[in-house]
Order: sequence, then C-alpha cells, then structure tokens
Amino acid sequence: MIQHSINFKQELEGWWCVIANHKVYLPSPNNNIPCGVFSDLAMPFTPPEQVHEIGVFEGVTVYLLQITDQEFSQHETEFFGFRTVLFEQPDKFEFVARAFQVDLFLRTHQFCGQCGEKMTLIDWELATQCKPCNHRCYPRISPCIIVAIRNKEKILLAQGVHHKPGQFSIIAGFVESGETLEQAVHREVGEEVGIKVKNLKYFGSQPWPFPHSLMVGYTAEYDSGELVLCEKEILSADWYGLDNMPSTAPIQSIAGQLIAQTKKMMKLAQ
Ligand SMILES: [Zn+2]
Repeated sequence: MIQHSINFKQELEGWWCVIANHKVYLPSPNNNIPCGVFSDLAMPFTPPEQVHEIGVFEGVTVYLLQITDQEFSQHETEFFGFRTVLFEQPDKFEFVARAFQVDLFLRTHQFCGQCGEKMTLIDWELATQCKPCNHRCYPRISPCIIVAIRNKEKILLAQGVHHKPGQFSIIAGFVESGETLEQAVHREVGEEVGIKVKNLKYFGSQPWPFPHSLMVGYTAEYDSGELVLCEKEILSADWYGLDNMPSTAPIQSIAGQLIAQTKKMMKLAQ
C-alpha cells in the first residue's frame, strides 16, 4: 500500500522506480532497479518536489520517482518494458507493476471527472479528492478472468489476435459491470470459442500492469458444444495433448502457471 507522498530529500534511501512512457529505468551496466541513497546513485533526473512511497522490498522502502517527458527522451535507451522485469528480475515485478499503476493513476487523475476542478492528493491513502465537489478517485483496477479448459487428456489453447505470432494461450477477458467472476468465465468462453464449461475452480490471481488489469485465474473442464471461434478475437483454437503442445505463455505469467497445472491433470487423465 502507498503510505504517503513525501517531500523529496537527497538523503532518502530506497529502491527507485523511475517510470515513464510504460517503461522502467534500468540503467547500464547491470540493468537493475537503482537501490541506495539518492545522492550516491547519480541518476540523471531532477527529483520532483514529492516522491511516493509505494511499499517495502527486502526491508528497503520502494519509491516512485516521476520524471518529465523531456528527461525520458534524453535517456530513453535505459528504459525497458515491464516484461523485461517479469522475465529477468521476477522478484521485483510486483513492486514495479505497482509503481507503474500509481504513476498512471497520478497522471490521469489531476482533474475532477465530475466538475473539472484540480484534484488534491490525499496523503494517508492512495486517492485524489476534489475539494469543491468531494468526488474521490482511487487507482483503476480492471478484473480480467483467465481460464484453462481441459477435456480429459487435452487442453484448449488459442491464438489471440494480439498474441505474438505462433504463441498460444488460454481464454481471457474483462469482467463486465454487474457480473460475477464466474459469470464472466462462462460468458467469455461462450463468446470466444462457443463451448460450455463446468467444474470451475479458482486458481489464483496476478496483477498485470498492461495497464491496470488484475488477472483472476480459473481451471475448468469441458462440458459441451463444438468450437466456434470469434474471429475478432481468436485466430485459431484447438485441443492439444501433451505430445503436441505448441509454444505457450511463459511460466512467469498466470497463463503459464494455469497451463502447467492443467498439464499435470492431463497426465493423470492419460
Ligand atoms: Zn469535482
């Protein structure tokens, strides 16, 4: 949880998440998140008046440092996408994801959506408030279900229109207003591949900062119906056995973990 926004001081010590343009600052030669006393790190950014405490990692405070667009363009080659952190420094992905989401929230909630006045940052929780009309905003989190569907010794894998070519994954989609997570699973599966599923089991969740999803994972079993693909979303989808699995989502993602879990069940079903 964010504790508060604090006045910047050169002596502050912490992990420094410098976020800009959907990327994070990983300076050479090590490409690590900078950690230490700010004045010792010689980072090429003018610190803003305030920095934001966003948590603690390995006993050290994590700060979000916001920079200007100009500073970003001067040092763009030392900024990397979040997937780099997920694959190369997975233990730090969680706080980098949080830093990104806090940065996005602060940038996109400067003015009241109700009356248009300037918003004020509340210092004891992560929220902004409009003094004239009392409208209060919290960071946006968009729940998105993701489900691994097994039919005996096979798993349903699909290639989405937005996936890397040749990379297969499982069915996912955003929860709609007024819908339960389970209803969202049944609706998305029906819309995207035309089948019915049963025996839904909650698996786990993962924040996914692209830009503010919370992936909620389920396993399910095939119930009935033939595959009918939604052409707008799915390029191809089919049932795959352990002996002919295509390239799938990496294990660092909840999709990869759901596929790994389902493969265990497929082995047992053989
Ligand atoms: Zn207002």
